[in-house]
Amino acid sequence: MLSFLFQKFAGRHHRKYVEKCRPLVARINEHEQAYQSLTDEQLRAKTDEFRARFKQGETLDQLLPEAFAAVKNAARRMVGRTVIVCEHELTWDMVHFDVQLIGGICLHEGRIAEMATGEGKTLVATLPLYLNALVGKNSQLVTVNDYLARRDSEWMGHLYSFLGLTTGCIQQQMTSELRREMYNRDITYGTASEFGFDYLRDNGMATRKDDQVQRDHWYCIVDEIDSILIDEARTPLIISGPAPIEREQPFTRLKPPVEDLVREQLRLVNRFVKEATDLLEKKDATPDDRQTAAMKMLQVKLGMPKNKLLLRLMETPEWRKLLDKTDVEMHSDFNKEEVYKLKEELLFTIDEKNHQADLSEIGRTKLRPDDRDAFVLPDLASEFIEIEKRNDTPEQKEQAKLTAQQRYEVVSEDIHAISQLLRAYALYERDVEYVIQDGKVLIVDENTGRVMPGRRWSDGLHQAVEAKEGVTIERETRTYATVTIQNYFRMYEKLAGMTGTAETEATEFHEIYKLAVTQIPTNKPCIRIDRNDSIFKTRRDKYNAVVKQIQEANGRGQPVLLGTVTVEQSEVLSRMLKRGGIIHTVLNAKFHQQEAEIVTRAGQRNAVTIATNMAGRGTDIKLGEGVRELGGLFVVGTERHESRRIDRQLRGRCSRQGDPGGTKFFLSLEDDLMRLFLQGNLASKIMEGSMKEGEELEHPWLNRSIESAQKKVEQQNFAVRKRLLQYDDVLNKQREVIYGIRNGALHSERAKDIIFEMIEEELAVRLENAGFGEKGGTPPTSLESLVGWLNSHFPISMKVEELTGQPEALLKSLVDRIRQAYGLKESIEDVQALGGLERYIVINAIDHHWQEHLTEMEELRRSIGLRSYGQKDPLSEYKSEAFRFFEELMNNVRLQICTSLFRSATNREAFENLFSILARSARLQGPTAAPTALAAATQAALPPDVGGVPSPRGEPAASEPEIKLPTITIRREAPKVGRNEPCPCGSGKKFKNCHGA
Ligand code: ADP
Repeated sequence: MLSFLFQKFAGRHHRKYVEKCRPLVARINEHEQAYQSLTDEQLRAKTDEFRARFKQGETLDQLLPEAFAAVKNAARRMVGRTVIVCEHELTWDMVHFDVQLIGGICLHEGRIAEMATGEGKTLVATLPLYLNALVGKNSQLVTVNDYLARRDSEWMGHLYSFLGLTTGCIQQQMTSELRREMYNRDITYGTASEFGFDYLRDNGMATRKDDQVQRDHWYCIVDEIDSILIDEARTPLIISGPAPIEREQPFTRLKPPVEDLVREQLRLVNRFVKEATDLLEKKDATPDDRQTAAMKMLQVKLGMPKNKLLLRLMETPEWRKLLDKTDVEMHSDFNKEEVYKLKEELLFTIDEKNHQADLSEIGRTKLRPDDRDAFVLPDLASEFIEIEKRNDTPEQKEQAKLTAQQRYEVVSEDIHAISQLLRAYALYERDVEYVIQDGKVLIVDENTGRVMPGRRWSDGLHQAVEAKEGVTIERETRTYATVTIQNYFRMYEKLAGMTGTAETEATEFHEIYKLAVTQIPTNKPCIRIDRNDSIFKTRRDKYNAVVKQIQEANGRGQPVLLGTVTVEQSEVLSRMLKRGGIIHTVLNAKFHQQEAEIVTRAGQRNAVTIATNMAGRGTDIKLGEGVRELGGLFVVGTERHESRRIDRQLRGRCSRQGDPGGTKFFLSLEDDLMRLFLQGNLASKIMEGSMKEGEELEHPWLNRSIESAQKKVEQQNFAVRKRLLQYDDVLNKQREVIYGIRNGALHSERAKDIIFEMIEEELAVRLENAGFGEKGGTPPTSLESLVGWLNSHFPISMKVEELTGQPEALLKSLVDRIRQAYGLKESIEDVQALGGLERYIVINAIDHHWQEHLTEMEELRRSIGLRSYGQKDPLSEYKSEAFRFFEELMNNVRLQICTSLFRSATNREAFENLFSILARSARLQGPTAAPTALAAATQAALPPDVGGVPSPRGEPAASEPEIKLPTITIRREAPKVGRNEPCPCGSGKKFKNCHGA
């Protein structure tokens, strides 16, 4: 009832927005009517007029009616023209509908416009992109793949150029010159990862202003915003390179024993299943027998939740109910001990919902009979206290602590590796969660079924799966720069989004991104018929029913689009259809352009298309001749997804623009969603009473029940994403600070101010540490060491007796002396070169320590996970540790700057070339990123000759994703020059008469 009310209310809220827009739409149309009498030139002149009026203080909101009218009028003038889009000829036939104008207003206001498939979002976006580009900053549109970026930028580019605006698009293999050019255009199309990686390169790697490609982060519309901000949210963009030190791989070492463990556990749980079955099938089974059987089943569930025999046993509703009941009972605190006992009889336990794996006592003993504590995390804090109590020398204590710490690290790494290996074996199934291609483990997106090359599970899981499959375990890498897609998009001054499905996640968009979702009505009423779900007992029954349904539709000639969750499912169904003699096409979202073209034909008579959710998205399906009469496109779903949004995406593929169409989902009790979340509720009661093998169940109640299960999962996933974001926020703030300083250095002619700020801070800390400002004065030893430090870093010849007075005054006088000394250096160096050197000093210090910091933060994330076994809140622990790390990082940066200021030579070229090499050896990681994109991008930005430093390899990196980082030591000292040789400053004088004087 409540949700019904809410829907009514929500519906009203959307209608209200649309009503509010009506007068504005009327004004746009009036202007557009008036524009119809202008010449083409006069219309084009409007763009400059708007720009000028904006400069004189008119706001974009004020300009909106006329600007939108200009775009619409331009579209009208183009009708009938032939335009070239991706090498195809196309006749322009679009003029913005009123609902599209409303969509445009909504996007301009920084909202998410929910518009059904086929409503023409591509055209809608032209309105606000044009308007916002008038400001003179880069307006951007994010598409889901490279192909669509190119297609839409070319297609809509004709419209923009009619109005005198330039359009560009970013593609994966582009050089940085081209990228820069594209970002310099008025409007730029591209994918989220390309934009994100460009940001990372600009801010985390570029060493010259000229290497940066992006202009600003002004206005951005994200197409399919739900898939970008929700589905891709869990994976950060990472630029990484080989780690400097190779660490030993615990996975290879731990694989054989873990494999034994898994095998043994399998035998164990299979025995339990058999014992349970025997007890349950006994003619005169007593309640006690049933109880014993239930506990055994529960044990199997704890030990191997995806065990095949267990799943088969669960096909009997009565037994499924028994297990569910026991499971619920046992999860109460009351039965904690009991469950603990069950777990301890196993070798390890797997928590499917929380993706965790733990060794039991027996498991630990099996792995290391000689040392059962080998997998117990040492209590470092108490150990340290113990060490402190000893009668040792400080050095011995230090040494003991170090040893303890090293042991802690080894043990924690092993525990972690084992846990990941167990997960890899028990929860990650080949061809479902991942596929193997060319000796690599490639992740399959659980929502879309799309294979995601270049993307890796974090936290060692990927390496664990690689170990399990016996393929090469990829090297550990060092992170050069990283950002999550969410945080990237939060940087824009104005963000907007479009999608067919955002409503169900409206709360999340609002809470995290402050984006409101508005439903835009369709141009023509939608007449799609969503039939009730059909539920079957087994997957086999379900597939048979699906094939039968397809045969029926196909017999009539009605086209069918069959949506699957996984690649494996696609293949199974394809085989079954082949056996049934039905001609069909299979799409797995591997070849965007090709698949987009196939999908456009999915609405033809007799067409049968199998597609994972992602395949061919963004391309609409037009109906062939005579198909309307047959009921339009029929969409069949083979499983309900974890979120309702993905179901809606699939349904939305038919019935565009008032076309007829229908959808139906087929489910089975063996589906993951059903298994996990239908336990013990109304639906399962209905089912268990009636279901027999081969029988079909269908009722509107069931649909609702399933939806409430989906809501539960959605909420859980939302909580996980929110949590992740909270963690990520910590690093995000730090990144903002670091990139701020770095960019400050990069964009100033001289980074001197930053350097002296750092020096001052360092001195202040050192003075304080030496006891200045404290009562009781300063101990002489610390004075001496301070003077020693000062003189070894700055050529200022300090004497101990000069270190007196008030701390502030002393600090000032010290800084002044260093400034004087530096002034001397300035007077004898080439100013331009010195500017380069200063930038280099700051950037080098930041990059070196920041990259180290990133690695440490990753480790911290991992170890916090382990620590959360204690009572503390892991997030606040993480925050305080992260803060400490960051302070340390800043200290190190400061110190390095102090150290290098007077010890660096001004051979700018050599230094800057060095950076370029660093940039070239990096690789990218993230959604849809090719590992070589960075290499390609930076290649052209380099000077042709890298100044005598050997280039990593003579050839472009295309054929080799991972390039060895050349080991180059930076010469900090000025080169030795003979007194009678020419001075290296280029003055022409002898060294002894010039800088050597
Ligand atoms: P969406 O992304 O919303 O699913 P598209 O942008 O792919 O939709 O457009 C769907 C189809 O509708 C395209 O073939 C496009 O040519 C057509 N279309 C969009 N707007 C109009 C319009 N105003 N008049 C006629 N056809 C339109």
